[in-house]
Amino acid sequence: MLVDSHCHIDGDQFDEDRDEVVQRAKEAGVEMMLNVGTGDPHSEDFRKAVAVAEKYDNVYASVGVHPHDAKLYDDQAENHLVELVQSSKKVIAWGEIGLDFYYDHSPRDLQIEVFRRQVRKARDLGLPIIIHSRDADEETIELLKAECSGDFRGGIMHCFGGTPEMAKQLMDIGFLISFAGNVTFKKAENLRESAKVVPLDKLLVETDCPFLTPVPFRGKRNEPAFVQHTARFLAEFYGVSFEMLAEQTTRNFLSFFKLQLAA
Ligand SMILES: [Zn+2]
Ligand SMILES: [Zn+2]
Repeated sequence: MLVDSHCHIDGDQFDEDRDEVVQRAKEAGVEMMLNVGTGDPHSEDFRKAVAVAEKYDNVYASVGVHPHDAKLYDDQAENHLVELVQSSKKVIAWGEIGLDFYYDHSPRDLQIEVFRRQVRKARDLGLPIIIHSRDADEETIELLKAECSGDFRGGIMHCFGGTPEMAKQLMDIGFLISFAGNVTFKKAENLRESAKVVPLDKLLVETDCPFLTPVPFRGKRNEPAFVQHTARFLAEFYGVSFEMLAEQTTRNFLSFFKLQLAA
């Protein structure tokens, strides 16, 4: 039993074989996937992400404007996303939202403004948030600390790439920490340093597919079935059995979202 807490199987890369990809995930023990919508909120991109979740029993969706696309966020975009949230019970989170100061595809001050606005919107809707943060740890944590209190539903820091200190601060304000395939990379010693401070009951695993394919498939298109390799790697790293890590991360995801596995 496993959950891929963050994937993008609505992407064009999966248009040819999405049914097989979902089937292979099932065969690999992946009981649930969270398909994170991205793209242009003035296009059909997010509708497609939700449609994929509607099509498959074990696929859920989230919607939110990625920091790369912060410049596209406006009232119309927000209304569109809110409508999608209200249109489907399969939409269970708002994201991925956050800050990306590595690529800087949108101006930084605008990224911060749009991030804050979306955190507040998610909170109004009672939805947890999925966070993307790259080269912006301080700004991310500062904003989250200011905005995430009281009735806040918590969140997931996806593809964790920060310091151990950041992981601790996030867990303190109700976040789960999700590791992707890059934790398996030889040079990712810093990620493994951070993984050391994350207890099993705060841990999730993800593929972020089609990107970040874990060892031993690095270089190929990633897909949810491969989340097992990240889970196996982390099990060995923590010195627990694969079954235990798989079960615990699944339980973390289910209880966070108040979901149950299909009987
Ligand atoms: Zn991301
Ligand atoms: Zn992603």
